[in-house]
Amino acid sequence: MTAAARGGPGRPGAAVRATGPEGAEGVDGDDGDDGDDGDDGDDRSAVRTLFDTWGERSYDASMSIPKAELHLHIEGTLEPELAFELAARNGVALPYADTGELRAAYLFEDLQSFLDLYYGLMAVLRTEEDFEDLAEAYLARAAAQGVRHAEIFFDPQAHLARGVGIGTVVEGLGRALDRSESAHGISTGLIMCFLRDESAESAMSTLEAARPYLDRIVGVGLDSAEVGNPPAGFREVYEAAAALGLRRVAHAGEEGPPEYITEALDVLGVERVDHGLRCMEDPELVARLVRDRVPLTLCPLSNVRLRAVDALEEHPLPAMLDAGLLCTVNSDDPAYFGGYAGDNFRAVRQALGLSPERLRDLARNSFVASFLEHDEERRARYIAEVEAYEFE
Ligand SMILES: [Zn+2]
Repeated sequence: MTAAARGGPGRPGAAVRATGPEGAEGVDGDDGDDGDDGDDGDDRSAVRTLFDTWGERSYDASMSIPKAELHLHIEGTLEPELAFELAARNGVALPYADTGELRAAYLFEDLQSFLDLYYGLMAVLRTEEDFEDLAEAYLARAAAQGVRHAEIFFDPQAHLARGVGIGTVVEGLGRALDRSESAHGISTGLIMCFLRDESAESAMSTLEAARPYLDRIVGVGLDSAEVGNPPAGFREVYEAAAALGLRRVAHAGEEGPPEYITEALDVLGVERVDHGLRCMEDPELVARLVRDRVPLTLCPLSNVRLRAVDALEEHPLPAMLDAGLLCTVNSDDPAYFGGYAGDNFRAVRQALGLSPERLRDLARNSFVASFLEHDEERRARYIAEVEAYEFE
């Protein structure tokens, strides 16, 4: 596959459009030599049908209530159509015949197969334009699902490992973010995440490398494999980030124990906890989170796909709201986990029977939890939109 000559500087149309087998333009899918087209054919056609149904994007009212997205990895928004488009542009060979086969691979079986796919596909992201197109495609989808404000995670170490510098990532994403408000009605911020399965020294040098771009970065986070990588190892880099005026969040209590949440609060000084699901195992911690109004960025569809909960019907969200926790609903890695912010709202509404007022609480919470202290007028305007929203 060679870099395709694209017709001018056009938008990434194939990516912004809803899913569909026609989405990958100019890529023929006839290699047929992978040897994996045998007895799993039925599963794959079922997956295609499922995704084609999502592709129609028939939203219900719960999806378009104004909301902020606070837990979203931009690398996790890479849809198969855009992956093929960028692969063609950059001359990267993908080990999939077509977008249908790649989308079938998105039905990964465990965490490791997800991570293999996730990091493998990043190979198509090379230039500022690639990151711009990635962010643009996300923002278009988010706008269609009622997102009005997005604080977006990115993983500089994952790109640096492939020789793509942080400047390429931040400047590329920034191009799309700069026009987000006029093009999509979404205000934005970037949160730079450290990979917790990399060393603290690597995190610190990443923070150093980010210095020229701090005007574009609102905060730091901590992500990737949680178990065995407790927050405390990153104390120094979080102290350095705080000294630079950056906000602090961290993934904690998704797979890891409740003690990781306490550690993230006490040692890293986080202001928001990403996931935080397992706080429910520790009543004293719940009481603390409620008392201190610490927001939790829950990702229900992600929790099901990564088996943090067995089924959406068993998700602790209602109990967490009953306990008085400041919960928000987000999409995590939406291309891989089955849906964007509004899809998550719809899913919890259906599976958990949440009332419209509970959905309104979640939407209001998302703006309360946003890092909008520099613009309280905007926060108040967004919350007024939530209060005025009429459910059908
Ligand atoms: Zn996450």
